[in-house]
Amino acid sequence: MKKHNKKLVIANWKMNLLKDPAINLARKISEAGDISVDLVICPPDLLIDSIKSQTNISLGAQNCSAHAEDFGACTGDISAAMIKNIGCNYVIIGHSERRKYHKENNDIISAKITNAHKAGLVAIICVGESLEERQEGRSHDIVLNQLSALPPTSTPENTIIAYEPIWAIGTGKSASLTEINQMHEYIRFEKDFKIVYGGSVKCDNAKEILSLGQVDGLLVGAASLDFEQFYKIIK
Ligand code: PEP
Repeated sequence: MKKHNKKLVIANWKMNLLKDPAINLARKISEAGDISVDLVICPPDLLIDSIKSQTNISLGAQNCSAHAEDFGACTGDISAAMIKNIGCNYVIIGHSERRKYHKENNDIISAKITNAHKAGLVAIICVGESLEERQEGRSHDIVLNQLSALPPTSTPENTIIAYEPIWAIGTGKSASLTEINQMHEYIRFEKDFKIVYGGSVKCDNAKEILSLGQVDGLLVGAASLDFEQFYKIIK
């Protein structure tokens, strides 16, 4: 089994922060010393350029267009090529909030991943089961089905899997260490890519989750919006 040494922490800011507080937070993070992980911040798209010009933080978008064209009549969409051009190297695809609110299915997610790869972005693919699916013993099947959206262009270099059980996202109830390690092991058996965990990661559980053998990093939502808390995580 392949080992990915340096841990990766991805901050998902979701639809949060106005311009000035976002730049301040990004500045504080980029100027903080003692950071022992690779770091990626995924701000709202409108803030990417300002943060890029004022910090040296590695950036990602939270979504990209599923349409095959880089430019064209797709009102409201932002293409993977545009995301790359503005200075991002990453894009989150298939987050459970997009699956839920925007009805994203495997076909849409697969098209987005293909576009991300074509643009030279690393695609961070979110997978994870609902509480009901877990209680019914279907977690592995659900995740396996979600992994089937990965197009043939996917490689360990251009794709990261984020295991985010839906019942742990924003609920304050993280998955247990055993649940995390077992699912990561299962995913790695299917795809030997970098696998990060997301779902109610806080400064008081980050260290033990990161110490798990199957965990290559974290995807952090709410706790990434608070400098003191996030700094403890990335330290
Ligand atoms: C997320 O939405 O990707 C996430 C992990 O959120 P939180 O850390 O707030 O649970």
